[in-house]
Amino acid sequence: MPDLEVNLAKTYDAVIIGSGAAGGMAAHVLTTHGLQVLMLEAGKKLPIEQELRSMEWPYDNANRGALPPDSHSLSFNEYTIRKPPYGAGFEKAKHLKSYIGDSDYVKNIVVDERENPFTGTNYAWVRARCLGGKTNIWGRLALRLSDYDFKAKDRDGYGENWPISYSDIQPYYDKVDLYLGITGVKENLPYLPDSIFQRPTKLNCAELTLKQSLQKMGRVATQYRAGVTSDGLKHNKYRSRCYGRGACERKGGCDIHAAFDSPTGLIYPAQDTGNLTLRTNSTVREITVDPNTGKASGVHFTDSQTMKDYHVKAKVVVVAASTLESARLLLLSKSRLYPNGLANSSGHVGHNFCEHVMGPGIADKVKEMVGKPPTLDDGRPGGFYLTRFRNLAEKHPKFIRGYGFEGSSGSAMFPRGADVHGFGVSFKEEVRKNQGAYIGMGAFGEVLSRYENFVDLDPAVKDKWGIPALRFHYKFGDNEHRMAEDMKETAQEMFEAAGFEIMYVSDRVLTEGWSIHELGTARMGNDPKTSVLNQFEQSHDVKNLFVVDGSAFVNASCQNPTWTIMSLCWRSCDYLADELKKGNL
Ligand SMILES: Cc1cc2nc3c(=O)[nH]c(=O)nc-3n(C[C@H](O)[C@H](O)[C@H](O)COP(=O)(O)OP(=O)(O)OC[C@H]3O[C@@H](n4cnc5c(N)ncnc54)[C@H](O)[C@@H]3O)c2cc1C
Ligand code: SF4
Repeated sequence: MPDLEVNLAKTYDAVIIGSGAAGGMAAHVLTTHGLQVLMLEAGKKLPIEQELRSMEWPYDNANRGALPPDSHSLSFNEYTIRKPPYGAGFEKAKHLKSYIGDSDYVKNIVVDERENPFTGTNYAWVRARCLGGKTNIWGRLALRLSDYDFKAKDRDGYGENWPISYSDIQPYYDKVDLYLGITGVKENLPYLPDSIFQRPTKLNCAELTLKQSLQKMGRVATQYRAGVTSDGLKHNKYRSRCYGRGACERKGGCDIHAAFDSPTGLIYPAQDTGNLTLRTNSTVREITVDPNTGKASGVHFTDSQTMKDYHVKAKVVVVAASTLESARLLLLSKSRLYPNGLANSSGHVGHNFCEHVMGPGIADKVKEMVGKPPTLDDGRPGGFYLTRFRNLAEKHPKFIRGYGFEGSSGSAMFPRGADVHGFGVSFKEEVRKNQGAYIGMGAFGEVLSRYENFVDLDPAVKDKWGIPALRFHYKFGDNEHRMAEDMKETAQEMFEAAGFEIMYVSDRVLTEGWSIHELGTARMGNDPKTSVLNQFEQSHDVKNLFVVDGSAFVNASCQNPTWTIMSLCWRSCDYLADELKKGNL
C-alpha cells in the first residue's frame, strides 16, 4: 500500500496530526463519511512484523531479546536520581530509551530520549514515534468508563463533571467493540460497563481461587478485557484472530495483529476507501491560522528526515498527536490572534494533566500449584483484572476515587517469582517445581486532575528538529500517596484471604508517567473559561479545530483510557463530518 504524495496546492477536507489510536480512529470515521483526508505522522512506517517477531524464541535472538549493547533504557532508580532532559550520565550509550524500550523488539518503536528531550520534573514519558504510535505495543486492557467517572464530581464534590454522560458515549463504545474486537466476560457492574465481547480467555486455577475468594468480600476479578479479536473480524483483511501464542507478555506487539493496532485496525482500511493520503516522516510544528477569520487554515510540517519545511491547507484540523504532544502543538501555535497558543483563551491548555499512579503490588506463591506440570498460561492476551472497589457505595476516610489491579498467574516463558536459591541441577529442579505456582498483580489508581499539574514550553531546550521541548510541572499529591498505601494493604488482605503464600509486597510508587496513560491537557467542558474543548472535542475558540486524543479527558478515572479515547473520537468525528457538510465549520 504505497503512501500517496501530498498535494500542497489542494485544500484537504481534514488534516489529521498523528496516527495512533486517536488519529487512526479519526481517519476511519472521516474517510467513511467520504471526506478527503490527509494524515501526517512524525515517525516512520516500520516493517512492523520484522520488529515484533512475535514467534521468535529468546535463544534465536542475538541478545536473548534484550537491547543491543550500544543502547540503554532508563530504570526506576535512574529516573529517581537523574533529572530531565535525560542523557547526562549515559554518555556510553549511543541510544537512550525510556523504561519501556528495554527490549530488542521495541527499540525502533520508542523514541530516543536525546533526540526528543523534555525538561522540568521527573517523568517516565514513553513515546512511540512511528506509524500507529503506542498502539503497536500497548498492553491491550480495554475498559469502559461509567457515570461513576463522568459524573465523579456529583459523587465527591471534587473537580469537574464531564459534559457527557455514559448514555452519550455508550453507542460509540459498542461501535468500537464491533469494529475492532474485544474479549472479556460480562459482569453487570454499574461502575465498569460491559462491552460486546468476543470469545473470552480462561482464568486459570489460582485466578479462579482468587475470584471465588473475592466474591465473599463483595469484590470482582474478571478475565482481562483485551482489545484483541479472539473470533476474527470478517470486515478486516489485515488482522488475524488470536491464536494464543503468548508474545503478548513481551510488552504487547502482536505480529498477526490480533491485538488492535491503529495501522491494521483503522488506517489501512481507511486507505482502502481511496479517501486517505498518508505521509509519514512529517513532524507538524505549527497549526496555522487565517488572520481574517481566526479559523485554522492548515499546518506547517517538517520532513523528519530531510528537514525540509512544508505547509498544507485543510478545512478542518484534527489534532491527535497524543495528550502531551497535542498540548505542545497547541502551545507552539502562537499568533497575533492567539498569543498564548491556539485554543487557549481559557489558559487551560497543558493544565489539569492527570494519569494513573502505579507501583504498589504483590507476588505470591500458590502452594497447591507447586510441583504441578507446566500449563500454557501465557498463551492468552492477559490474565485478570480486579475491578475498583473503593468509594463506590462507601466513602473511604483517607482518599477519594479508586483503583484497580492488573494481574496474572501460572507458567510463563520466563519463570516468574519462583523465589528459589542455589545452583546446578537442584536449582533447576526447584525452578521447574515452583514456576507455575506464581500469582501477582499491580495497581493503577486515579491521579486527580489539578490545574497546578501542567506542561509548558521550555524557553531554551529544543528537540532534534529545532522545536521547543515540553517542560513538566507535575507531581503526585497527597490523595495519590494515601491511595497507594491502601493499594498495598488491600493487595495483601485479598491474597491472604485467598490462601496464597506472600513472597513480596511492594508499596513503592513508580515515577510519574509510568502508567503511560497521560490525560487531560485540553479538557472538555461546557464553560469556555475553564475548558478548552466542548463535548465534541471541538475547540471553544476555533471551531474548525478538534483535539481527539486523551487531552480531552476531564478526569483520569482508574480505567485504562484507549477504548474511551477511540469512542469519544468516533463520536466527535461523526459530529465534525455532519457540521462540515452543513457548512458550519
Ligand atoms: C507499553 C504500553 C502499554 C499500554 N497499555 C495500555 C493498556 O493496557 N490499555 C490502554 O488503554 N492503554 C494502554 N497504553 C496506552 C495507549 O497506547 C495510548 O492510550 C494510546 O496509544 C493513545 O493513543 P494516541 O493516538 O493518543 O497516541 P499515540 O498512540 O502515542 O499516537 C500519537 C502519534 O502521533 C504522532 N505525533 C506526535 N507528535 C506529532 C507531530 N508533531 N506531528 C505529527 N505526528 C506526531 C506520534 O509519532 C504517534 O505516532 C499503553 C501504552 C504503552 C506504550
Ligand atoms: S496471545 Fe493473541 S494477541 Fe497476544 S501476541 Fe499472541 S496472537 Fe497476538
